[in-house]
Parts: sequence; C-alpha cells; structure tokens
Amino acid sequence: MSLLVVGSVALDSVETPFGTADEVVGGSGTFFAASASHYTPVRLVGVVGSDYPVERLQPLAARGVDLSGLETASGESFRWRGRYRHDLNVAETLETRLGVFAGFEPKIPASFRESKYVFLANIHPALQHAVLDQVSRPALVACDTMNLWIETQRNELVRLLGRVDLITLNDGEARQLTGSPNLLKAARWILDQGPKYVIIKKGEHGALMFTGASVFFAPAYPLEQIFDPTGAGDSFAGGFMGWVAKTDDVSERNFRRAVVYGSAMGSFAVERFSIDRLLEVGQDDIAARVKDFHALVSLDGAPQA
Ligand code: AMP
Repeated sequence: MSLLVVGSVALDSVETPFGTADEVVGGSGTFFAASASHYTPVRLVGVVGSDYPVERLQPLAARGVDLSGLETASGESFRWRGRYRHDLNVAETLETRLGVFAGFEPKIPASFRESKYVFLANIHPALQHAVLDQVSRPALVACDTMNLWIETQRNELVRLLGRVDLITLNDGEARQLTGSPNLLKAARWILDQGPKYVIIKKGEHGALMFTGASVFFAPAYPLEQIFDPTGAGDSFAGGFMGWVAKTDDVSERNFRRAVVYGSAMGSFAVERFSIDRLLEVGQDDIAARVKDFHALVSLDGAPQA
C-alpha cells in the first residue's frame, strides 16, 4: 500500500565514542525511507540543495523509493552536526544549518496525494501542516518531532496533534512537550490533544505504545555495540509504518507487531554510520531479529531451574 513520507534529506556529521562521520547521507526522511523500503514502496518528498551528492541516494531508488517528489533548490543542503557521549540515548546538536529548508514549501506531486499511509517525519511543524493540507483522506497519519520544535514552535506542534492519528517521540521530548516527568501522564496529555496512539521511544530501553485504554511495551534489541544512534527513531518509524502499509491493517493488534518491526529496524540502523546498515540487511536478517525479539520476552523459552 502507498506510503508517503515528508522529511529532511540531510548531510550529517556525527561524533560518537567509536568514530566520526563527515557529511554522510542523513535526514529524517532518508532514514525513514531506507527502513520502510524493506516492507513496501515509499514515496519521499523533501528538498536538497544544488550541492547535494544525489547519486548517493541511488541505492534508495534501487530499493523502490520514489524520489520524484525530491526537489533540488538552489542553495545549500540541510546539514546537521551532532555528538553522542557515553550516554548514547542523548544526541547533542552542535549545529543545524537549514539551508534550502528555510524557504521550502512542500509540494506533494498529484500522484502522491491519495497515499493511504502518511508519515510526517521530523521537520518544521508548519511544513508538516502544509503536507496535510495537500493529501486526501489517508487511512493513517503519523508524525515525529524533536526538542527544537517543542521549544520554538510549540503552538503549531500542539495544533498538529489534533490532525494526526499517531505520534512517535522520545521520552525526553514527551516530558518537555507535556511538562510531566511521568510518562503515563505525559502520554495521556498527548492523547487528549487528538492522536489515538502515542509511541514513546526510550532508546536502548525500548518503546511504549499508549492508547486511551492500553499500554504495550517492546524492548530494544540488546546490542553489544551501538555504533551511532543517529536515525534510530526515524528507522523505528520506517519499520512501523512500512509494516502497517504492507499489511494494510490499522488494528491495535497489528500496531503491536509494527512496534516490534520498528524496533528491529532501529536496532539495525545504529550498527553503522548513516543508512549503510539499513541498505545492507535483507529479509532474512529482519526475520531473524524479529524472532529474537519474540524470544526476548517469551516466558516459555526460559531454561528449566
Ligand atoms: P533521529 O532518528 O532522531 O536520530 O534523527 C536523526 C536525523 O534527524 C539526522 O539524520 C538529522 O539530519 C535529522 N535532523 C536533525 N535535526 C533536524 C531538524 N531540525 N529538522 C529536520 N531533520 C533534522
């Protein structure tokens, strides 16, 4: 089923305790598309500057990502520079250069407007609204955001909550948005603004999905080495939405499965810089990891005492 994502297509420079990467392919839309493309064809809308090495996006096109909605504007591409110290759950933004994103007006190609599944990846909330103004009756609209927009665009963001079915955000962002240190209360506050589902990601401690009546938890995959956490959240969302679009099932039961597929994709993303690992893995790797997730929470497989 058709899956549309609008988000940043960036050049990332990242420092982690294990190494540095300079001007590598990044961006919320890019990580999402690389991840979701393992499940379903993806339509990516975004903007790059005239300096962007677009040939580096070819592997995405080869994986079924439709790049016809990716605009090239004159000017500099969006660049993000970040650092992770020993707490890999916390990204420290060193520099954000909006470049062509500053004047970007998303134009959803006519052939993308009927997309059944829509993901508003992390970009300025005004752009997220502009996308919703152009699509007709999706079965599911989900969004992501970040601390920058919570600080500077709170009203627009809260208004967006009234227009989406589901939001993914990390625990720090949920606390910042709601003013509540307690995640249950934070989730309830967000649900009161409109979405039927709230997914709060807790990095290496897994993810919680809240509805008005239930809470579901999936652990994160226990990796021996998290190499670079950049893009984990977007890859989670890509796995989640990709699975939902592939199965074309918006039941809560299926969303629980989707959380596990999202967690699996997030765990791959952090094994290498950029989208490298996401491009490398195949269906067998994903199936094996999802199986491991089941074993992780199964009470039946425990060794006998
Ligand atoms: P995450 O999944 O949260 O680790 O997202 C990482 C990606 O978000 C990086 O590849 C960045 O290029 C992108 N990013 C960082 N800041 C912004 C921003 N203000 N707007 C859009 N994308 C951003």
